[in-house]
Amino acid sequence: MHIEVRAYKQGEEGERVYNVLMQANEKSIAIIGGGASGLCAAIAAAERCRADGVAVRVVIYEKDDRVGRSILATGNGRCNFSNAQLNIDEFHHAEFVQQALDSLPESPDGLDAVHGLFHRLGLVWREEQDGRQYPLANKASAVLDVLRARIEALGVEVETDSELAAVEPPREDFPRYTLRMRSGVIKRADAVVVACGGRTVSALQVGDLKRTPPRPTLGPIAVSEKDALLTRELDNIRVRVSVSLCRKHGSAEGATEEMLATEKGELLFRKYGVSGICVFNLSRLAQQGDVLRVNFLDFLEEDAEAYLVQRRSLLTGEYGEGLTYMDMLRGLLLPRVAEAVLKASFINPYNRFKPADAPRLASLLTGCPLEVEGIADATLCQVRRGGFRVADLDPRSLQSRTLHGLHVAGEAVDVDGPCGGYNLHWAWSSGMIAGDAAARSLMGSRR
Ligand SMILES: Cc1cc2nc3c(=O)[nH]c(=O)nc-3n(C[C@H](O)[C@H](O)[C@H](O)COP(=O)(O)OP(=O)(O)OC[C@H]3O[C@@H](n4cnc5c(N)ncnc54)[C@H](O)[C@@H]3O)c2cc1C
Repeated sequence: MHIEVRAYKQGEEGERVYNVLMQANEKSIAIIGGGASGLCAAIAAAERCRADGVAVRVVIYEKDDRVGRSILATGNGRCNFSNAQLNIDEFHHAEFVQQALDSLPESPDGLDAVHGLFHRLGLVWREEQDGRQYPLANKASAVLDVLRARIEALGVEVETDSELAAVEPPREDFPRYTLRMRSGVIKRADAVVVACGGRTVSALQVGDLKRTPPRPTLGPIAVSEKDALLTRELDNIRVRVSVSLCRKHGSAEGATEEMLATEKGELLFRKYGVSGICVFNLSRLAQQGDVLRVNFLDFLEEDAEAYLVQRRSLLTGEYGEGLTYMDMLRGLLLPRVAEAVLKASFINPYNRFKPADAPRLASLLTGCPLEVEGIADATLCQVRRGGFRVADLDPRSLQSRTLHGLHVAGEAVDVDGPCGGYNLHWAWSSGMIAGDAAARSLMGSRR
């Protein structure tokens, strides 16, 4: 069998020693998936083997015809690769994530492990709103380039067009993992990192490990047919608002609403409902029947009703007592938005606006209701919630609690975060943890 040697030691002597070692003890670590977590897992595994002077093949099996395509699509092609103000509590299964991240060593320059890795690989980045970090070059390819250069320098082998169908655990009579490709080819490995992402996690059989069925999240929300009349009218219009996700409790007459979360930002009306980062974040919690309440007056510090009464006094000075609803909203909302929102609440936009109308208008403008139907389009969702259950994994190694040498990373784990670099931060970190631990599991050493 041909073994590509680039990682162990430079020079002929290094290669000779490496080959002898490989023949005597040809151990390998298989990384399933060459996306964000898989590339970091491969780097961590190969670096651990190199640091400990152990010759182990690290092989990425990638179903696509290249590695890292998923990274290129992130952040609208700019890759929001991490966040300077990461709040771990925002992750689904936050306690598990905290334990996992705590197990990563700080880099020598005092950076956390993710930033330490990218810093030493030469990536320069900058920060935007809310701590979001992007490569200085403003292209996702800058992030992928440094990762690819590192796997190449480490001699990580890459097998593209290689889709795994199943991973079979070692048996008493055969102490290695068996990797069954969709093509029928069989490969072997001594340790495995499952880094196949969230989309295909259900299709990959891994021993009898259980998975929570993945469901798409961080995506646009479809609203009920009745409320889609409004969003259709405003298709493609963006507004800066805050949006609250509310859940109804109780019967129709005595129903109360519990506010689950509020997000501020740009909301995009679509034919089917609403989109935009604030909506994506709320989609993590939204269920059919919940209500999105759009607050167009989010900038106000005072009470909305008092503001409208005051505004009316101001504007009657200009337009006289015959002031209409549309006069009231001119200069505050786009005319199309004002008209559609009023009509959706059965208010004639050209009726006279009286002081007594202030409470109703205030409540409409601070909580315009849109009933949630569900996720609008799964293909537009950024992540999948679900995957390998955290209870079945050790957070410090991301190793299965029942299968020694089997690790899981990235979105294949039942962990997800909001927009803003959270999901990639988890992918890089968990990849590093799993790759390093997979290498250690082969050496029989523990941290
Ligand atoms: C449009 C879009 C934009 C996004 N933007 C951001 C952002 O800016 N910031 C952020 O933090 N997150 C973002 N995300 C989320 C982020 O991309 C993912 O959370 C992250 O890539 C997950 O990393 P992963 O390694 O688990 O999976 P992936 O990066 O999806 O990689 C999985 C890899 O495994 C391969 N694979 C799958 N199944 C198999 C198999 N059976 N055999 C072999 N190979 C297989 C896939 O081809 C793929 O290359 C975005 C997601 C999308 C869809």
